[in-house]
Amino acid sequence: MPAPDSRAAVLALDATDPTASLRQRFALPAGIIYLDGNSLGPPLASTADRVQRAVRTEWGGELVRAWNSCGWIDLPARVAARIAPLIGADGDEVAVADSTSINIFKLLAAALALRPDRPVILSEEENFPTDLYVAQGLAELLGERAHLQLVPRSKLLRSLGDQTAVLMLTHVDFRSGELHDMSEITRAAHDAGAMMLWDLAHSAGAVPVDLTACAADFAVGCGYKYLNGGPGAASFAYVARRHHEGLRTPLTGWMGHRDPFAFATAYEGAQGCAPLQVGTPPILSLIALDEALELFSQTDVEVLRRKSVALTGLFIDLVDHRLPDQGFTLASPRDPARRGSQVSLSHPEAFAVMQALIARGVIGDFRSPDLLRFGFAPAYTRFTDVWDAVSVLEDIMNDRSWDRPEFRVRPRVT
Ligand SMILES: *Cc1c(COP(=O)(O)O)cnc(C)c1O
Repeated sequence: MPAPDSRAAVLALDATDPTASLRQRFALPAGIIYLDGNSLGPPLASTADRVQRAVRTEWGGELVRAWNSCGWIDLPARVAARIAPLIGADGDEVAVADSTSINIFKLLAAALALRPDRPVILSEEENFPTDLYVAQGLAELLGERAHLQLVPRSKLLRSLGDQTAVLMLTHVDFRSGELHDMSEITRAAHDAGAMMLWDLAHSAGAVPVDLTACAADFAVGCGYKYLNGGPGAASFAYVARRHHEGLRTPLTGWMGHRDPFAFATAYEGAQGCAPLQVGTPPILSLIALDEALELFSQTDVEVLRRKSVALTGLFIDLVDHRLPDQGFTLASPRDPARRGSQVSLSHPEAFAVMQALIARGVIGDFRSPDLLRFGFAPAYTRFTDVWDAVSVLEDIMNDRSWDRPEFRVRPRVT
């Protein structure tokens, strides 16, 4: 498809977008084009009221009674049931607790326990660092019993062997946005006798996933990216039903006990994946996540995916067409079937260019060493946002306004 050559042509795409009305449900600041919902999704317009009500009337009014009277104790399970259809799971196969990093720890340990004669956790060098750091920490803790093997993506399948306990991969690569084929890779892991753990941090809410169809064993993902649950929102963890019996988690806390209020001395895990609960859940944060997930109960993820593909495709076409000689290289797959909901461009001055974009109200992010990363959350990003963002990028490159000392100062969070 040739790139549209006018904003009017792009406006027509918004006019026929079946999901256009979802944008009104979000509280987005005026004058901002937000292309970083893959790092931190924005709040819904209703989230502030809902959380305020929870503080005032639930916490403030009911006090400790709210665990029962306001259903707080069941909130993690209710939130899990809302996430389940987005990832092709049943509600009782999903737990909502802790952070993604911590859930990776629990599930890697659970996978190793299911393969006691195999020590290897296999992953790719390009995987998100926390996934690798957690695996390193677990391997150190378990000594001889576990070992992290890292290989480049191209060697993954060849590296599966009779020592591999678990293959741990992220579905959508955080740098390039490239997708792994979940079915093919899960099958290869199983053929080698290994377990499969998927990290869906950049998938859930933007890229349809079917954990049941691909027969995955375990999965994790974030509540605060495309699910819009708020900074530090709880993570989700999936355990296929066939592994519920005998699930071994190394973090045995009272909230995962079969009867926490019996205050028994000995740990006895609850049914299903409930042992993944460890301590007291963060209720205020879960309330914000619950509110955000309501949006998806009225939305078909396949429709969102079609829009996401159209948004990222439009961005690539416009960059190709309008910025051909500015030193940008596409760092994401051109084939939409192999691309998540983001587009990354490499550029030698990526950091300064991204700072200049942010100063002009176009918020994406920078990923070391040279990537500008743009996330296109389909629920609230308009086609005109894509057009306008590329126009600002074109301006910044043409007038070299990125080339200023203040745009070279690196804050702690990029
Ligand atoms: C964002 C992200 C995480 C974040 O983990 P936290 O424990 O929530 O900080 C983990 N894995 C991947 C692949 C991510 O993209």
